[in-house]
Amino acid sequence: MRLNLFWKLGFAFFALLIAVLLPVDFYAERALRRDYERSGFEQLAAIARIALAHPPQAIAPNSYAPVGTAPLNDWVAQMAASGVRVTVITSDGQVLADSQSDPATMENHAGRPEIHDALAVGAGQSIRHSVTINRELLYYAVRLPVAGGPPLILRFASPLQTLNEELWEFRKRLWLASLVMLLVTGAASLLISRSFSGRVDRLKQFSDRVAEGDFRPIEADRSGDVMEALAVSLNQTAGRLDRTIRTLTEERNLSSAILGSMVEGVAVVNASERLLFANPGFAEILDLDVPPKSGSALVEVVRQTELLEAVRQVLKGDTRVETEIVTGTLRQRFFAVTVAAVSAAETSGAVIVLHDISDLRKLERVRRDFVANVSHEFKTPLTAIQGFAETLLAGAIDDAQNRVRFLEIILEHSQRLARLTDDLLRLSQMDADRLGLEIHGVGVSQFVESCVETAQRPAAERDLRISVNLAKRLPDIAADRRRLAEVLQNLLDNAIQYTPPGGQIMLSASASGNEVTFTVSDTGIGIPQTDQPRIFERFYRVDVARSREVGGTGLGLAIAKHLVEAHGGRIWVESEIGQGSQFHFTVPIFDPERSSSRGGR
Ligand code: ADP
Repeated sequence: MRLNLFWKLGFAFFALLIAVLLPVDFYAERALRRDYERSGFEQLAAIARIALAHPPQAIAPNSYAPVGTAPLNDWVAQMAASGVRVTVITSDGQVLADSQSDPATMENHAGRPEIHDALAVGAGQSIRHSVTINRELLYYAVRLPVAGGPPLILRFASPLQTLNEELWEFRKRLWLASLVMLLVTGAASLLISRSFSGRVDRLKQFSDRVAEGDFRPIEADRSGDVMEALAVSLNQTAGRLDRTIRTLTEERNLSSAILGSMVEGVAVVNASERLLFANPGFAEILDLDVPPKSGSALVEVVRQTELLEAVRQVLKGDTRVETEIVTGTLRQRFFAVTVAAVSAAETSGAVIVLHDISDLRKLERVRRDFVANVSHEFKTPLTAIQGFAETLLAGAIDDAQNRVRFLEIILEHSQRLARLTDDLLRLSQMDADRLGLEIHGVGVSQFVESCVETAQRPAAERDLRISVNLAKRLPDIAADRRRLAEVLQNLLDNAIQYTPPGGQIMLSASASGNEVTFTVSDTGIGIPQTDQPRIFERFYRVDVARSREVGGTGLGLAIAKHLVEAHGGRIWVESEIGQGSQFHFTVPIFDPERSSSRGGR
């Protein structure tokens, strides 16, 4: 059971009071008793002196009056009038007379200490319980010399009764006063403890509140005492805590927002290779279905041995390890891994950062492929030109039948070389953003007609029909007419090249949103699903031999894609092998208010 403050204070006061009262009671009684006894003996001694001055006359030397003789009894009665008990005893202890008892019934008094002392030194005193009268008495005895015989002892006694009564009175008053004091102090302690424990309770509630995260200040009572100082200092502490927690929370939110929105994967592991933290990027990069839980072992989450090895190296003592990992099987992605040692407070571990370098790797590959492709593309015509020139020089120049054919072959290959260099030049211009597009409002139907017109002849040569299907009232498009014509021309050329005779080519255009979508569809050979994403790459051809045969460079669609994107549009293909292909591209609608020229691109 827990005692409340009131009872604690009450008991403390009570114990204090008792602790003071008991010695007071004890010493007061002793002092009082001593005083009383002293004055009692003094009084008896005074009476004794009077008695010695006026001894009983009836006593004659050598011949004691018989016990109980009238003169002795009178003297005893006279002396006893002062209120004391008077006894006359012979030196051998026999009682001759007594003011309160019959001497005949009294025992021999020689053994009484006061008698003994009186005989020895002249006076003696003692306090004793009198068997004779059954009371506590003060005794004082003196020796009365008797001429020519043994002395007599005169003894005076007064009862202690009054002393005990007085002591009892004193005690009663003392304890009564103490009781009153106890009640007063009890009431005071109740009042003090009430207000005190109320204030302590308020402080406790406040600290409970703070523990739960409520930092509103407590109202400080204006008592000016230590409790008020405590409340003020608690308020300051709570305020400081509040500010610190706020700052920490803000910082935590900020860093978790930063980590959460990072595309880079970030994770922290402890010294025993368990994850302490992983951001969403980390889970995404490693293709984890569920974000890894804090505390899960890294080996269970990560399969890439290079990454695990790097972490182990850092945990063994390296400060920083860099490596590379590959994820995904169909679509490979490359990541640069940086593992660095971290030590914060008591924990040490490693922080892992995964950075996507797939684009870099892709670019490197594209560049390598490109150089290889360019060399390869140049090699065939150059070998042909070189071969036929050598043949001519070796004498074929005189062969009237063949020399023209040889020269035609040389011309054809050099034209191909020219086309190649033209296309490459254009691509490099596009790469350098030096196209210098001149954007104007271009009428769709007029634009389509002029392109179709150019394509009509080669189509007719291959027995192909071109039809046009334009939506009504198409808005003008924002385009560089000449450049966009190259795109459409190229798509039509391809459709003609890759559609067997008797096929159909259809060109359509429709507006939706703020763009116009052009579609060139054919009933040709189609493009395999796996090649479709790649045909817009430079030099990519589904069937290299066939492309060469028809004079293609493999750059047409790459250039078309560049041009469309420079116009702010998109290009894509839908195709099914043996059924035909649909090439779509979009061009933004012309908005006269926005621009008349999109210079630069
Ligand atoms: P090329 O000069 O070889 O035509 P392109 O870049 O224009 O180069 O086209 C790339 C490849 O895409 C072609 O080699 C061909 O394999 C394929 N292709 C393009 N258009 C068509 C089409 N309409 N039908 C079938 N295949 C096509």
